[in-house]
Amino acid sequence: MIAALMPQRPSPRLEVRGLSFRYGDHQALRAVSFAVGRGECLGLLGPNGAGKTTLLQVLTGMVGLQEGEILLEGERLRPAQGQFRAALGVVFQRPSLDGKLTARENLELGAELFAVPRAERRRRAQELLSFSDLAERADERIERFSEGMKRRLEIARALVHRPKLLLMDEPTQGLDEGAFQRVWARLHGLKRSEGLAIVLATHRADEADQCDRLAILHHGEMLALETPDALRSRVGGDLVVVEASRLEELAGILSERFAVAPQLDARSLWFEAPRAHELVPRLVEVLPAGRLRSIAVRRPTLADGFLKVTGAALEQSS
Ligand code: ATP
Repeated sequence: MIAALMPQRPSPRLEVRGLSFRYGDHQALRAVSFAVGRGECLGLLGPNGAGKTTLLQVLTGMVGLQEGEILLEGERLRPAQGQFRAALGVVFQRPSLDGKLTARENLELGAELFAVPRAERRRRAQELLSFSDLAERADERIERFSEGMKRRLEIARALVHRPKLLLMDEPTQGLDEGAFQRVWARLHGLKRSEGLAIVLATHRADEADQCDRLAILHHGEMLALETPDALRSRVGGDLVVVEASRLEELAGILSERFAVAPQLDARSLWFEAPRAHELVPRLVEVLPAGRLRSIAVRRPTLADGFLKVTGAALEQSS
């Protein structure tokens, strides 16, 4: 009786339970679980090969569901089911627009495929041309568009049927800074106004920073699920970065004198320090003369937090 009177907590827009996936012998996902609420953006953060694309492919039904459950607003569904498809907007890495059609035609065709009523298609296309800053180029064939313009149109087209859930793989790849900021401002607007839930895969720290929470993926395993701020604060204090010659010897001196744990790459060493600005003058005194090229203190980034959780770099150096 009492339970019946209690207000019901709304089910998450999307819930993924114990999702595992193998390509033959290769385990690409290991029991991944998370939930995404109404108006929430969840980022799948990991370097190349972490399993992000595979996860999105399972969610979109491009590859079969092998193990685990997927629930849309509390209802267990198979991704290939029409009900699930109708609720989804998808932006993949590979372009899916028709180059021979204009921007407007691409949007109207997308609307038709999702059975948006004819009377609404034109209006919806016009709204999304504004959304993607393409209203002035609406009637040009998109084969003449820049990569950034096509990318904006891809995102707009994924929204044409007002999906409940938007899945995106590296969505803003190739956008300049201004377009990146505008696209994200509009997506945040849709989260607030329509309760749009977003799941996006990225290996970029700036894109991850747009998310409300991040699922940290490493070799197919989800090692953490937390806000960008929580991920940054995994690094205890600021980071001191020293560029100098004979780094290994220097690392030995620093760990002995200041009880820090320096990490090294080819050009620099760095370590965490809670009150870094107080440490820097003492550091300069101790370092052997003529060896120091630069010393800098910086706040931890998401990439630093990722390294702390996984022990691996987020962006692989090319
Ligand atoms: P990227 O950003 O490079 O797309 P990702 O995090 O999306 O990386 P996935 O593409 O999901 O990672 O790959 C996860 C793992 O599965 C990798 O080890 C990859 O080599 C492997 N993999 C992906 N697709 C296949 C496939 N079709 N056959 C066999 N192995 C695959």
